[in-house]
Amino acid sequence: MKTYQLYIDGAWSDPRSGKWMETVNPYTGEAWARIPRAGNGDVDAAVEAAHNAFRQGEWPELNATRRGLRLREFAEILAANAERLAEIEVRDNGKLHVEVLNQCRYLAQWFHYYGGLADKIEGAVPPIDKTDVLNLTRHEPLGVCALITPWNSPLLLLAWKAAPALAAGNTIVVKPSEYTSASTLEFAALAGQAGFPRGVINVVTGLGPEVGDSLVRHASVRKVAFTGGEAGGASVNTAAAPGFKRVSLELGGKSANIVFEDADLDQAVNGAITGIFAASGQSCIAGSRLLLQESIHDAFLERLVSLAGEARIGDPMSPDTQVGPITTELQYRKILDYIGIAKSEGARLVLGGGSVPAPGGNGGLFVEPTIFADVSNDMRIAQEEVFGPVLSVLRFSDEEEAIAIANDVNYGLAAGVWTENMRRAIRVSERLEAGTVWVNTYRSTSYTTPFGGYKASGLGRENGMEAIREYLQTKSVWYYAGGDVANPYTRR
Ligand code: NAD
Repeated sequence: MKTYQLYIDGAWSDPRSGKWMETVNPYTGEAWARIPRAGNGDVDAAVEAAHNAFRQGEWPELNATRRGLRLREFAEILAANAERLAEIEVRDNGKLHVEVLNQCRYLAQWFHYYGGLADKIEGAVPPIDKTDVLNLTRHEPLGVCALITPWNSPLLLLAWKAAPALAAGNTIVVKPSEYTSASTLEFAALAGQAGFPRGVINVVTGLGPEVGDSLVRHASVRKVAFTGGEAGGASVNTAAAPGFKRVSLELGGKSANIVFEDADLDQAVNGAITGIFAASGQSCIAGSRLLLQESIHDAFLERLVSLAGEARIGDPMSPDTQVGPITTELQYRKILDYIGIAKSEGARLVLGGGSVPAPGGNGGLFVEPTIFADVSNDMRIAQEEVFGPVLSVLRFSDEEEAIAIANDVNYGLAAGVWTENMRRAIRVSERLEAGTVWVNTYRSTSYTTPFGGYKASGLGRENGMEAIREYLQTKSVWYYAGGDVANPYTRR
């Protein structure tokens, strides 16, 4: 079994805590590597290294162009290692290799994009209303940033944070999910090859409430970027508050995928399946509430059930597999619990509804693609995030009702609209309370466009030009060119 170490101050080390945990392959159900279960001493060492690297030495002395170049060189190394990283990530989180490979090939773009942005972070010269004064603004890095990631897309969601954080001149301590730490440690090894000065990138692994909490509370951490569930997000927000730390949170969703009667129904059926069954529904942007207009409801549901019923369940490494395992046992139990809740609430089960024996007799945990019809929006299955292959289908009569149902939920991460009527598309997308709206497509994201939640789906934005602001603070500098300081007792 492979044993990983912590990456602190440019070197590999065993955890000072002396504790380890095993990481399991969700397809086989077997442990394949040992990961450090770091503690407070490890956090102290990692944050101190990041703090020193931020304050002195090569990193703060690099000009922005050279810093950007370092990111772009790292992008090339990531691209060259995409296949290897993808295999490790699939072994750790069980997501389909075809998807993870695409994600790993895509990672480099974040480092190219933000590497290019590093020397375009421009301040302003406000036209000040006072005489003899030049006032200008500078956007400066914050310091040590704690980056905390979940298990469903560990490297992609790390790239969303690390690239803008580093481009802005910060240093980072990453805390990956306890279930999927291996690919992040491999990422750190590649960062070492890319020649980042020691201490700029550090990785501590272990449990959220232990090492994650201790990292968030550390006095020298100035910013926390977190992706995960609501409970973790709330704990992080609370732990960061006494230190007045910047916090960005990418949390869960209960996204509405709305199909109008004037949609291209073949495309919409595919879009509904992409929305919920891709990644076995373990996706923050899952379109887990499918809203169907009354007039097409029955015919659409029939086609959906028939197509989803054909999904090939199996080995995530096989290119033929469409639905892979559930990543963790905890998540598996949670999904089955929600299926039970939906049944007890009176939702009508029209597909699936249970676990599937692991293909090949392995020890992995699988859940059938599951569809509930006749769901009303006040049921828990319509309001709470399942994070699994469970779709709730709801009916609506007109546009007004569709918007009302879509917005009647605490979350606001994403939404889909299927219609061939451009005016309707514009009207509806403007009124949906969601950070991302897809029209006639679903589940697209890019390094160029902001991503984040409305309402309980989070705070702040990742990706695009906007995201770099999350890792910068503005300094206003006043140069006085006048004569004497007239009256020292009054404000100028
Ligand atoms: P999680 O909240 O359990 O864990 C996420 C990370 O936070 C892990 O690294 C965990 O160790 C850490 N953590 C947990 N409690 C912590 C604490 N008290 N202090 C510090 N760190 C803590 O989430 P998960 O189960 O790994 O991921 C699934 C959740 O993530 C879902 O709710 C999903 O919607 C959400 N998610 C959101 C996005 C997005 O961009 N909005 C993307 C992917 C996943």
